[in-house]
Amino acid sequence: MVRWRVVLASLVVLSILSVGCGDDDESQAQPVEWGYEGDIGPDHWGDLSPEYAACSEGTEQSPIDIDSSFAASLEPALEVDYRTTPLVIFNNGHTVEVEYAADGALTVGGDTWEVRQFHFHAPSEHTLDGVPAAMELHIVHQNDDGERAVVGVLIEEGTANSVLAPVFENLPTEQSAPMEVEGEEVDLGAVLPDDLAAWRYDGSLTTPPCSEGVRWHVVETPITASATQIDAFTAIFDNNSRPTQSANGRPID
Ligand SMILES: [Zn+2]
Repeated sequence: MVRWRVVLASLVVLSILSVGCGDDDESQAQPVEWGYEGDIGPDHWGDLSPEYAACSEGTEQSPIDIDSSFAASLEPALEVDYRTTPLVIFNNGHTVEVEYAADGALTVGGDTWEVRQFHFHAPSEHTLDGVPAAMELHIVHQNDDGERAVVGVLIEEGTANSVLAPVFENLPTEQSAPMEVEGEEVDLGAVLPDDLAAWRYDGSLTTPPCSEGVRWHVVETPITASATQIDAFTAIFDNNSRPTQSANGRPID
Protein backbone atom coordinates (compact mmCIF):
# COMPACT_ATOMS: atom_id res chain seq x y z
CA MET A 1 0.00 0.00 0.00
CA VAL A 2 1.17 3.44 -0.80
CA ARG A 3 1.40 5.49 2.32
CA TRP A 4 0.57 9.13 1.84
CA ARG A 5 1.78 11.89 4.04
CA VAL A 6 0.64 15.46 3.75
CA VAL A 7 3.57 17.78 3.39
CA LEU A 8 3.11 20.37 6.05
CA ALA A 9 6.01 22.57 5.13
CA SER A 10 4.27 25.78 4.23
CA LEU A 11 7.25 26.95 2.23
CA VAL A 12 6.76 24.07 -0.13
CA VAL A 13 3.09 24.90 -0.56
CA LEU A 14 3.84 28.57 -1.08
CA SER A 15 6.36 27.79 -3.74
CA ILE A 16 3.82 25.60 -5.48
CA LEU A 17 1.36 28.46 -5.51
CA SER A 18 3.89 30.85 -6.95
CA VAL A 19 5.38 28.83 -9.79
CA GLY A 20 4.18 26.54 -12.47
CA CYS A 21 2.40 26.80 -15.70
CA GLY A 22 -0.88 27.64 -14.06
CA ASP A 23 0.03 30.07 -11.37
CA ASP A 24 1.77 33.37 -11.64
CA ASP A 25 3.33 35.37 -8.87
CA GLU A 26 0.54 37.92 -9.12
CA SER A 27 -2.21 35.32 -9.17
CA GLN A 28 -5.11 35.93 -6.84
CA ALA A 29 -6.35 33.62 -4.16
CA GLN A 30 -9.19 32.55 -6.44
CA PRO A 31 -7.84 32.28 -9.99
CA VAL A 32 -10.46 32.21 -12.70
CA GLU A 33 -11.24 28.69 -13.79
CA TRP A 34 -9.82 27.59 -17.12
CA GLY A 35 -9.50 24.33 -18.97
CA TYR A 36 -8.77 22.68 -22.27
CA GLU A 37 -12.26 22.35 -23.73
CA GLY A 38 -15.35 24.38 -24.48
CA ASP A 39 -16.03 27.86 -23.13
CA ILE A 40 -12.99 27.81 -20.87
CA GLY A 41 -10.67 26.23 -23.46
CA PRO A 42 -7.47 27.72 -24.90
CA ASP A 43 -9.28 29.86 -27.50
CA HIS A 44 -11.04 31.68 -24.65
CA TRP A 45 -8.30 31.99 -22.04
CA GLY A 46 -7.54 35.61 -22.89
CA ASP A 47 -11.19 36.56 -22.36
CA LEU A 48 -11.67 34.80 -19.04
CA SER A 49 -9.82 37.34 -16.92
CA PRO A 50 -7.81 40.54 -17.40
CA GLU A 51 -5.04 38.61 -15.69
CA TYR A 52 -4.99 36.25 -18.67
CA ALA A 53 -4.81 38.94 -21.37
CA ALA A 54 -1.39 37.77 -22.56
CA CYS A 55 -3.00 34.49 -23.65
CA SER A 56 -4.69 36.33 -26.52
CA GLU A 57 -2.68 39.53 -26.84
CA GLY A 58 0.84 38.22 -26.30
CA THR A 59 3.18 38.03 -29.26
CA GLU A 60 5.71 35.60 -27.79
CA GLN A 61 3.48 32.74 -26.73
CA SER A 62 4.18 29.05 -26.22
CA PRO A 63 4.13 26.32 -27.34
CA ILE A 64 5.24 26.57 -30.98
CA ASP A 65 5.69 24.17 -33.84
CA ILE A 66 9.35 23.47 -34.59
CA ASP A 67 10.72 22.86 -38.05
CA SER A 68 12.91 19.82 -37.50
CA SER A 69 15.12 20.75 -40.45
CA PHE A 70 16.43 23.54 -38.25
CA ALA A 71 19.36 22.03 -36.36
CA ALA A 72 19.04 21.90 -32.59
CA SER A 73 22.06 23.44 -30.96
CA LEU A 74 24.48 22.21 -28.33
CA GLU A 75 25.66 25.78 -27.64
CA PRO A 76 25.44 27.34 -25.24
CA ALA A 77 25.35 24.06 -23.36
CA LEU A 78 22.54 23.13 -21.01
CA GLU A 79 24.45 22.64 -17.78
CA VAL A 80 22.08 20.71 -15.56
CA ASP A 81 22.63 20.04 -11.90
CA TYR A 82 19.61 17.87 -11.23
CA ARG A 83 19.53 15.56 -8.24
CA THR A 84 17.37 13.00 -6.53
CA THR A 85 14.22 14.48 -5.03
CA PRO A 86 11.68 12.95 -2.69
CA LEU A 87 8.45 12.29 -4.56
CA VAL A 88 6.16 15.17 -3.60
CA ILE A 89 3.31 14.93 -6.08
CA PHE A 90 -0.08 16.45 -6.69
CA ASN A 91 -2.85 16.87 -9.22
CA ASN A 92 -3.47 20.61 -9.64
CA GLY A 93 -6.54 20.07 -11.79
CA HIS A 94 -4.62 20.76 -15.01
CA THR A 95 -1.69 18.36 -14.77
CA VAL A 96 0.22 16.13 -12.40
CA GLU A 97 3.10 18.03 -10.91
CA VAL A 98 6.10 16.95 -8.86
CA GLU A 99 7.47 19.55 -6.50
CA TYR A 100 11.24 19.42 -6.70
CA ALA A 101 12.48 19.33 -3.12
CA ALA A 102 16.25 19.15 -3.56
CA ASP A 103 18.94 21.59 -4.60
CA GLY A 104 19.27 21.79 -8.35
CA ALA A 105 19.82 24.25 -11.13
CA LEU A 106 20.01 24.86 -14.84
CA THR A 107 22.76 27.08 -16.23
CA VAL A 108 22.78 28.24 -19.84
CA GLY A 109 25.24 30.79 -21.17
CA GLY A 110 26.01 32.08 -17.69
CA ASP A 111 22.38 32.42 -16.59
CA THR A 112 21.25 30.16 -13.75
CA TRP A 113 17.78 29.17 -12.61
CA GLU A 114 16.81 26.88 -9.74
CA VAL A 115 14.65 23.82 -10.35
CA ARG A 116 11.17 24.28 -8.92
CA GLN A 117 8.90 21.56 -10.29
CA PHE A 118 8.20 19.30 -13.22
CA HIS A 119 4.93 18.26 -14.81
CA PHE A 120 3.47 16.67 -17.91
CA HIS A 121 1.28 17.34 -20.91
CA ALA A 122 -0.44 14.86 -23.20
CA PRO A 123 -0.10 15.05 -26.12
CA SER A 124 3.09 17.12 -26.30
CA GLU A 125 2.64 20.88 -26.54
CA HIS A 126 5.63 21.55 -28.80
CA THR A 127 5.27 19.77 -32.10
CA LEU A 128 7.85 18.79 -34.70
CA ASP A 129 6.75 19.56 -38.25
CA GLY A 130 3.21 19.71 -36.93
CA VAL A 131 3.32 16.33 -35.24
CA PRO A 132 2.97 16.01 -31.45
CA ALA A 133 4.68 13.36 -29.37
CA ALA A 134 2.68 11.26 -26.92
CA MET A 135 3.63 13.46 -23.99
CA GLU A 136 5.94 16.28 -22.95
CA LEU A 137 7.85 16.75 -19.72
CA HIS A 138 8.32 20.33 -18.54
CA ILE A 139 11.05 20.99 -15.99
CA VAL A 140 10.36 24.48 -14.64
CA HIS A 141 13.12 26.68 -13.21
CA GLN A 142 13.09 30.14 -11.68
CA ASN A 143 15.78 32.59 -10.62
CA ASP A 144 15.83 35.07 -7.74
CA ASP A 145 14.25 37.73 -9.98
CA GLY A 146 11.27 35.49 -10.68
CA GLU A 147 12.36 34.83 -14.26
CA ARG A 148 11.61 31.38 -15.60
CA ALA A 149 13.32 28.87 -17.82
CA VAL A 150 11.75 25.61 -18.91
CA VAL A 151 13.35 22.48 -20.31
CA GLY A 152 10.85 20.61 -22.47
CA VAL A 153 11.44 16.96 -23.27
CA LEU A 154 9.27 15.06 -25.71
CA ILE A 155 8.13 11.62 -24.54
CA GLU A 156 7.49 8.95 -27.14
CA GLU A 157 5.88 5.59 -26.56
CA GLY A 158 8.52 2.91 -26.21
CA THR A 159 10.59 1.40 -23.45
CA ALA A 160 9.21 1.92 -19.96
CA ASN A 161 10.78 4.91 -18.24
CA SER A 162 12.40 3.58 -15.10
CA VAL A 163 13.44 7.02 -13.83
CA LEU A 164 9.89 8.35 -13.99
CA ALA A 165 8.29 5.06 -12.91
CA PRO A 166 7.70 6.32 -9.34
CA VAL A 167 5.72 9.20 -10.85
CA PHE A 168 3.66 7.10 -13.22
CA GLU A 169 2.92 4.62 -10.42
CA ASN A 170 1.69 7.31 -8.05
CA LEU A 171 -0.36 9.66 -10.23
CA PRO A 172 -3.12 11.30 -8.17
CA THR A 173 -6.33 10.75 -10.11
CA GLU A 174 -8.21 13.57 -8.40
CA GLN A 175 -7.25 17.16 -7.69
CA SER A 176 -5.15 17.05 -4.59
CA ALA A 177 -2.79 18.79 -2.23
CA PRO A 178 0.91 18.02 -2.48
CA MET A 179 1.73 14.77 -0.76
CA GLU A 180 5.00 13.05 -0.21
CA VAL A 181 4.99 9.39 -1.17
CA GLU A 182 7.14 7.85 1.48
CA GLY A 183 10.03 5.78 0.30
CA GLU A 184 9.77 7.01 -3.29
CA GLU A 185 12.13 9.40 -5.00
CA VAL A 186 12.97 10.56 -8.49
CA ASP A 187 16.51 10.89 -9.81
CA LEU A 188 15.87 13.90 -12.00
CA GLY A 189 19.52 13.87 -13.03
CA ALA A 190 18.91 10.64 -14.89
CA VAL A 191 15.78 11.72 -16.72
CA LEU A 192 17.34 13.67 -19.58
CA PRO A 193 18.82 12.08 -22.69
CA ASP A 194 22.62 12.13 -23.02
CA ASP A 195 22.47 14.48 -25.98
CA LEU A 196 21.18 17.84 -24.79
CA ALA A 197 21.06 19.58 -28.16
CA ALA A 198 18.02 21.80 -27.89
CA TRP A 199 15.89 24.33 -29.71
CA ARG A 200 15.79 27.56 -27.74
CA TYR A 201 13.42 30.47 -27.99
CA ASP A 202 11.72 33.15 -25.87
CA GLY A 203 8.16 32.22 -25.04
CA SER A 204 5.56 32.03 -22.31
CA LEU A 205 3.84 29.87 -19.79
CA THR A 206 1.60 27.50 -21.75
CA THR A 207 -1.25 27.94 -19.27
CA PRO A 208 -3.02 31.04 -17.95
CA PRO A 209 -1.86 33.67 -17.27
CA CYS A 210 0.43 32.89 -20.25
CA SER A 211 3.13 35.20 -18.87
CA GLU A 212 5.93 35.90 -21.32
CA GLY A 213 9.67 36.15 -20.69
CA VAL A 214 10.09 32.40 -20.33
CA ARG A 215 13.31 30.96 -21.74
CA TRP A 216 12.43 27.73 -23.53
CA HIS A 217 14.78 24.83 -24.27
CA VAL A 218 13.12 22.00 -26.17
CA VAL A 219 15.47 19.02 -26.17
CA GLU A 220 15.78 17.40 -29.59
CA THR A 221 16.26 13.81 -28.41
CA PRO A 222 13.05 12.36 -26.99
CA ILE A 223 12.79 10.07 -24.00
CA THR A 224 10.37 7.17 -23.82
CA ALA A 225 7.60 5.88 -21.62
CA SER A 226 5.69 2.65 -21.99
CA ALA A 227 2.14 2.53 -23.30
CA THR A 228 1.07 1.54 -19.79
CA GLN A 229 2.77 4.59 -18.30
CA ILE A 230 1.31 6.94 -20.89
CA ASP A 231 -2.12 5.39 -20.45
CA ALA A 232 -1.89 5.96 -16.69
CA PHE A 233 -1.49 9.68 -17.34
CA THR A 234 -4.01 10.03 -20.15
CA ALA A 235 -6.60 8.21 -18.05
CA ILE A 236 -6.48 11.35 -15.88
CA PHE A 237 -5.66 14.01 -18.50
CA ASP A 238 -6.44 12.90 -22.03
CA ASN A 239 -5.70 16.36 -23.43
CA ASN A 240 -3.94 19.01 -21.38
CA SER A 241 -2.05 20.51 -24.28
CA ARG A 242 -2.34 24.09 -25.54
CA PRO A 243 -2.36 24.34 -29.34
CA THR A 244 0.78 25.74 -30.93
CA GLN A 245 1.01 29.52 -31.18
CA SER A 246 2.37 31.75 -33.92
CA ALA A 247 6.14 32.10 -33.83
CA ASN A 248 5.69 35.71 -35.00
CA GLY A 249 9.14 35.67 -36.53
CA ARG A 250 10.86 34.75 -33.30
CA PRO A 251 14.30 33.27 -33.82
CA ILE A 252 14.94 29.74 -32.70
CA ASP A 253 18.52 29.31 -31.62
ZN1 LIG B 1 3.87 22.75 -18.90
